[in-house]
Amino acid sequence: MRILVLSRKRTLYSTRRLREEGHRRRHVVDVADPLKCVLLMSGGEPSILVGGRRLARPDVVLPRIGTAGTEYSIAVVHHFELMGIPVVNGHEAIARAKNKLDCLQRLAARGIPVPDTLMSRYPRDLDRLMKLLGGPPVIMKLLRGTQGTGVIYAESQPSVESMLETIWSLGEDILVQRFIAESKGRDVRALVIGGKVRAAMRRIGPEGEFRSNIHRGGKGEPVKLPPSYVRIAIRAAAAVGLGLAGVDILESSAGPVVVEVNASPGFEGLEEATKKNVAGMFLDAAVATARRGRR
Ligand code: ADP
Ligand code: MG
Repeated sequence: MRILVLSRKRTLYSTRRLREEGHRRRHVVDVADPLKCVLLMSGGEPSILVGGRRLARPDVVLPRIGTAGTEYSIAVVHHFELMGIPVVNGHEAIARAKNKLDCLQRLAARGIPVPDTLMSRYPRDLDRLMKLLGGPPVIMKLLRGTQGTGVIYAESQPSVESMLETIWSLGEDILVQRFIAESKGRDVRALVIGGKVRAAMRRIGPEGEFRSNIHRGGKGEPVKLPPSYVRIAIRAAAAVGLGLAGVDILESSAGPVVVEVNASPGFEGLEEATKKNVAGMFLDAAVATARRGRR
């Protein structure tokens, strides 16, 4: 099978592992930088050029969309869909996952527990709003951010106020969220593929850090998820419409709460922590997607 991995760099761990595992399984694995894909609308059908040449038609596309050029990359995924090529995670679901507000709205509407969160453009009644969230302290989050950037710990009401002023003056919005203190810089990352949790780890942030992201020095350890966590992870991925997702769950005293659903989860930390062949799971998902698309 011919699998196209959309990724900014072939040297990234996950991209390297996908190629390695793909070759072992006797697939042809191409890697294309989405930002180097030229989207052509001409001759009555969409096509894609790379390096001035028409791209060999893959059986399936496996998008790995990071932070740089996200919107363009999503348009590239859309183009492949319009060309009738099956993709692991559609462009609409990826766009949804990239927006923390959209994600939380959908999760909350489906009764999936999330930390109490609010968004406002109105500077008054802040003390009452803080109380709704059990703060200060509270967590503030830019709508688009990843690997822990754009996630802020605000200690006091004046710091929340100055943060809001700053963000609003830039024409941006920001979420204000209950600080789940008892999770103590730890969280659970569950990998959901095809409606099943295939791997999970607990991530533990470095001393003094409330964020547990692996890219911020968090360490993963294998974890056996209780059934309530498994159910919530599966429902969260489905709520956002992702066939493959990394779901971040905090262990709050009231039970599991979902903070985020990732459409292109990195898996270096997950392979290391669980000793599972996560790259192989991604490829199996791509093959299944291609077969479904053919039918
Ligand atoms: P990112 O896209 O940057 O990974 P997340 O929403 O997943 O954003 O937040 C990053 C990390 O910050 C989480 O993995 C978790 O460790 C911590 N965190 C996020 N929200 C909260 C919260 N409400 N209370 C306590 N810790 C949080
Ligand atoms: Mg996260």
